[in-house]
Amino acid sequence: MNIYKYDIVFQEVPDQISLAFYVCGCPLKCPGCHSPELWTEKTGSPLTMDLLHQLLADYKNKITCVLFLGGEWHAKDLISLLTHCQQQGLLTALYTGLDDIPSSIKDHLDFLKIGPWRAELGGLNSPTTNQKFIDLKTQQTLNHLFQR
Ligand code: SF4
Repeated sequence: MNIYKYDIVFQEVPDQISLAFYVCGCPLKCPGCHSPELWTEKTGSPLTMDLLHQLLADYKNKITCVLFLGGEWHAKDLISLLTHCQQQGLLTALYTGLDDIPSSIKDHLDFLKIGPWRAELGGLNSPTTNQKFIDLKTQQTLNHLFQR
């Protein structure tokens, strides 16, 4: 799995401080995509287990969640990385442009954002959005937390 970059983010997962990975190779190519640099694997470098291990050590006690912005197209690698994060006691989240993902991935997630980007409907902070942010433990949709 290649990543374009990583960052610490505060708003993508409500009430969590997340280490976010921007995963390369998104096959969906939504019109108006805000991150076309993610459409190819070529713009990134490998997110190895060693790199994840190092980053989790560097950010120990500073983050509460690890967020993957895409990556479901590398299901086996993604599950391995998510499992490692869970073993470190961190929450896990995935943003996907799909309307659903395999339960084998969901089993390793606390939070899931689904739905492709539709500019005319807006993102999670829009009341008309087609996207949903779901707490998978409770099955509650938490979009209202993005619209406050
Ligand atoms: S899912 Fe996200 S990254 Fe992929 S094409 Fe759509 S908006 Fe861009």
